[in-house]
Amino acid sequence: MITKDKSQALFEEAQNYIPGGVNSPVRAFKAVGGNPLFIKSAKGAYMYDVDGNAYVDLINSWGPMIFGHADDAVLEAVQKAIPASLSFGAPGASEVEIAALITDLFPSIEKVRMVNSGTEATMSAIRLARGYTGREKMIKFEGCYHGHGDSFLIAAGSGAITMGEPNSPGVTVGTAKDTLTAPYNNLEAVKTLVAANKNEVAAIILEPVAGNMGCVLPHEGYLQGLREICDQEGILLIVDEVMTGFRLAAGGAQEVFDVRADITTLGKIIGGGMPVGAYGGKREIMDYVSPQGPVYQAGTLSGNPISMAAGLAQLNKLKADKDLYNRLAEKTERIEAGIKKNLKELGLNYTTNRIGSMFTLFFTDQHVTNFEEAKACDLTLFGKFFNTMLEEGVYLPPSQFESWFISDALGDKEIDQIISASYKALKNLS
Ligand SMILES: *Cc1c(COP(=O)(O)O)cnc(C)c1O
Repeated sequence: MITKDKSQALFEEAQNYIPGGVNSPVRAFKAVGGNPLFIKSAKGAYMYDVDGNAYVDLINSWGPMIFGHADDAVLEAVQKAIPASLSFGAPGASEVEIAALITDLFPSIEKVRMVNSGTEATMSAIRLARGYTGREKMIKFEGCYHGHGDSFLIAAGSGAITMGEPNSPGVTVGTAKDTLTAPYNNLEAVKTLVAANKNEVAAIILEPVAGNMGCVLPHEGYLQGLREICDQEGILLIVDEVMTGFRLAAGGAQEVFDVRADITTLGKIIGGGMPVGAYGGKREIMDYVSPQGPVYQAGTLSGNPISMAAGLAQLNKLKADKDLYNRLAEKTERIEAGIKKNLKELGLNYTTNRIGSMFTLFFTDQHVTNFEEAKACDLTLFGKFFNTMLEEGVYLPPSQFESWFISDALGDKEIDQIISASYKALKNLS
């Protein structure tokens, strides 16, 4: 039995000063029972809590740590940047360099604006789409999460579903009425919505591979179908690659599925662990952004030199590593195969979804292709599974509705540990 005394004490104290004791709801263990661990440090495949326990980390800061924690190249770049001051509030060379690199990796991005989070990126992208098209409505998909901007907290995935609040209080009726929702992976539903709101829809926004209802893949032709609807109707396609960008490929899901966005949103991996987001797209659209155009968007710390240094180091490293995405997919495949073998041996029939280094074990025996199907999972079983995995030293996202993120720091030893821990955790369910 591992001790968690110091984490417990910190959590009790934290609850006095911080809502729920955490600075982001997904960090709480509310959905799985138990209290969150407080982390002291992390390196490579491992996180270490304040009680000295080590965990193989399958969250990796919710995606950013694609090379594992405290990557030497990223840390070195940050250390090198620090003496030149932490912020200028004026342009610097690293902002030009990262913009050039992003436009090189994403063919659909001709110009890009840096911001400080994925939320800021999607909020800015939707404002831009509205300003550019002169239309007010947008379509999003049930279970897709696009950060905590007001317009997106309608049928939102991720922490919002985990906390049972897919529609948040505080979002006005006026804002909510401009957000239309459709089930994921259903083109007919989108066509119906578009027809009922002719010339009123500014944008369709989606996760090209959903990660915030667990990992859910797009049906073949789905992304192309959305692209066609947008082209026919003068609607902008916003592909939210905050999670998938630089994770599925250096050029994101757009590279993997050969689809082009009008506006792309980025975050997570782009900052190497620092708070960074970005939105970019066609030149003509991006030139609507202030100060070139009329759509206002700004940021005191946007393009921060330390964040840019971390992001550049990570992006340059993943761009240079021609085998990275094969390696990541191969590691994740081994984890999936091991878990499937365990399921079979134990006579269990739960579903897995995987693409590249994103993976979810769903506690349902049906396929999961949309939010309705994800919601059919047995969350009590997930909670039990999660807690045994933690006891066995494997740190999973504390929610059924989150993808596991596999990092390149995982070696054979860690992969074997994950598979054998999952055997115990699955056996423990009955
Ligand atoms: C994480 C995420 C966001 C929000 O990013 P933050 O940096 O947490 O604000 C937006 N969209 C998607 C697809 C995400 O996974």
